[in-house]
Parts: sequence; structure tokens; C-alpha cells
Amino acid sequence: LVPRMQGFGTTIFAEMSALAVATGSINLGQGFPDTDGPPTMLETAVEAIRSGGNQYPPGPGLPELREAVAAQRLARYGLEFDPAAEVFVTVGATEGIAASVLALAGPGDEVIVFEPYYDSYAATIALAGAIRRPVTLRPVEGRFTFDPDELRAAVGPRTRVILVNSPHNPAGTVFTREELDVIAGVCREHDLIAITDEVYEYLTFDDVEHIPLATLDGMRERTVSVSSTGKTFSVTGWKTGWVTAPARYIRAVQTVKQFLTYATGGPWQRATAYALQNELPWVEELRTSLQAKRDRLITGLEAAGFATYRPQGTYFVQADIRPLGFSDGMELARALPDKAGVVAIPTQVFYDHAEAGAHFVRFAFCKKDEVIDEAVERLARLH
Ligand code: PMP
Ligand code: GLN
Repeated sequence: LVPRMQGFGTTIFAEMSALAVATGSINLGQGFPDTDGPPTMLETAVEAIRSGGNQYPPGPGLPELREAVAAQRLARYGLEFDPAAEVFVTVGATEGIAASVLALAGPGDEVIVFEPYYDSYAATIALAGAIRRPVTLRPVEGRFTFDPDELRAAVGPRTRVILVNSPHNPAGTVFTREELDVIAGVCREHDLIAITDEVYEYLTFDDVEHIPLATLDGMRERTVSVSSTGKTFSVTGWKTGWVTAPARYIRAVQTVKQFLTYATGGPWQRATAYALQNELPWVEELRTSLQAKRDRLITGLEAAGFATYRPQGTYFVQADIRPLGFSDGMELARALPDKAGVVAIPTQVFYDHAEAGAHFVRFAFCKKDEVIDEAVERLARLH
């Protein structure tokens, strides 16, 4: 393995899901729903296969999906994108982020990330030969946020890109307009490109609204936005995503993506286009049901002795393990299948400042009520 990838080993999601299978534990680790997406969307993918949509689609994506994405960004956020030049389809958000980072940050360039960060960010920045500069999200009155001075201090002469994930996995924070204003101000002042990861754009709770960074003053021209089908429509295995950005950035991302995967699976693209046009009411029901599941899991985790942070979005709860007498989330996560028959994700692996996250584990609530109930019942045996 090349030196720049040393230390990345196996992702925590693969490790913990394998542990769940090996021990027969309830898997509240890796975030994937245990119910399927909208039936007519699934049927559209099957139909696309039956009707011969099985050869290479155009590299930038099927026109129908690019048009559906442009229509969605316009209707929901008032953001206008030319489907032919400013919308680009990728193999999940993961490839969208990777291709964007590889296209826009080179060896020695610095990329700012908010920690805890989604694990692919660190690996992708390393692949680019770039350097990550973490800014820590810390709990303030029950919600994870950043110190604006810390963000400003993270910018240096080599900073090129800032990666912004909101709604944030695993912290559950949905950045407010004020927080986004700080980020936008830093981008404008230092001429940075923002790459936004908006895969949880529909999954926000309690009337909290997702605001795309590109909608702020002067930001559309310097923002590369990424989203995907997986979380919105409960088909995480479809790996279909998209990038919206000014044409010059799309051309850069395309140059990279051509040689990573060339194109993205056609049947999933057709079904995603269908879903963006027809299944948003289904997503609204998903959102409502997830909000109830969030509260159900939190009630159970609190009863089991964890201290929890109520997420404003995503389908994850950060839980502090110290009230239970534990201090190391990795140690607990590895022991939890034996102790309780439950799997969680130790979020310390998403921090550079491990001490800031050592005592957190993350639980997913995108599961059937009875699965959540059984999991918290088992966790109650911990104290
Ligand atoms: N970003 C975040 C924050 C995620 O949680 C995930 C997992 N859905 C991804 C990106 C990857 O999305 P995709 O499966 O579309 O590649
Ligand atoms: N995004 C999901 C999570 O955070 C799973 C990602 C993965 O398996 N790579 O759990």
C-alpha cells in the first residue's frame, strides 16, 4: 500500500457491520434503513433494466436525471443550474466528493474539514496529496457547533477548499444561516472553494431547515454541491449521486470522474429522476417517521444511561458514554456486541483530535420501531 494511504486500513463501517454479522447483533452502526424506498421508484429501475437501459449511459449522466436535479435545486432552494453544463452525475455522493476534491485540491494544498468528519473525506484528501485542517465541532448547550475564530485560524496561504457537511453526520447539526454566514465570509475573504455534502438535505427535524451554502451571497460561484439518492429515498445500495456547480468546476470534476468510473449505473439514474419528480411526498413521510424514531431511540438511550445529543438532521445520535462509566468509545464499540448484542460506531475515528471525540459512540435510528426497542432493551443491561 502506498504511503499516503497507510493508516486508512478498513473503514469503521465495514469493521462494525462485519462484527454485527459475526455476533448476530443488532446493527445500529452503519447507516442504512431496514425498509425499502418507494415501490414505484423500485419498479422504475426494474423497468429500465427490462426495457434495455443496460449499456453505458453518457459520462455526465442521463439527461433526464440532470434535468430532474436542476428542477429540484430550483424548486426547493431557488438555485438555478443549467442541466447540460452545471449538473453532473456520480457514483454516489462518495464519488462526487472524491472527484471534486481530486479535481480542486492538489499536493500540498490544504482542505478544511469540520471534525468529526465523514471518513471518506480524510482518505480522499490523502489520495489528492492534500492536507486536512480540522476544525472541531463541540457541544454547546446540547448542539454541536464550531468556534468562528477557530475556523478563521485554520485558514492559511495554502488553503484551497473547505468541505461542509450539513445536515452533519455524525454530529446531527444543521448549520444555521449565521453559521453559514461565517463560513461564506471565510470563503469570500480567502477565495476558497466550498464543497458541500448535502446527502441528508431532506432529513431534518423540528422545522429545522436545510440551507444550501450556495444560496448565500457570492457563494453560488464558488460552491460545488453534492447530494445523492441513497438517504433521501432509502436505497443506500444504489450509489447514485450528483454534483451541481458552475460549469468550470463541473468540467474539472468530469475530467477526474471519467477516469475513476467513466459513467454511473443507468437504471438507478432513471429511477432517481423519476423519484425526484414524483416521490417527494414519500420522503416527507420518511422524514416524519424518522423524527419519531429519533425520539424513540433517544428516550431508550437515556434510560440506558447514555447522555445524548438530539440531532436536528440525519439519522444518527451521538451518545456520550461517560455517564455509564466508560471513557473509550472504540473499546466500548468493540465490546458492545458481547456485552449487549448491539453494534454502534465509535466516532473517535472521525476526529484528528481524538480526545475531543473519544467518549462518543453513534447509533443509527433508520430502523423499524421493534428493532430500536429491542436494541435499547439490550443496552439497558449495561448499567
Ligand atoms: N456523506 C455523508 C455525510 C454520508 O453519511 C454518506 C453516507 N450516505 C455519504 C456521504 C455517502 O453517500 P453515497 O452513499 O451516496 O455515496
Ligand atoms: N453513510 C453511512 C454511515 O455513515 C454508511 C457509509 C459507509 O458504509 N461507507 O453510516
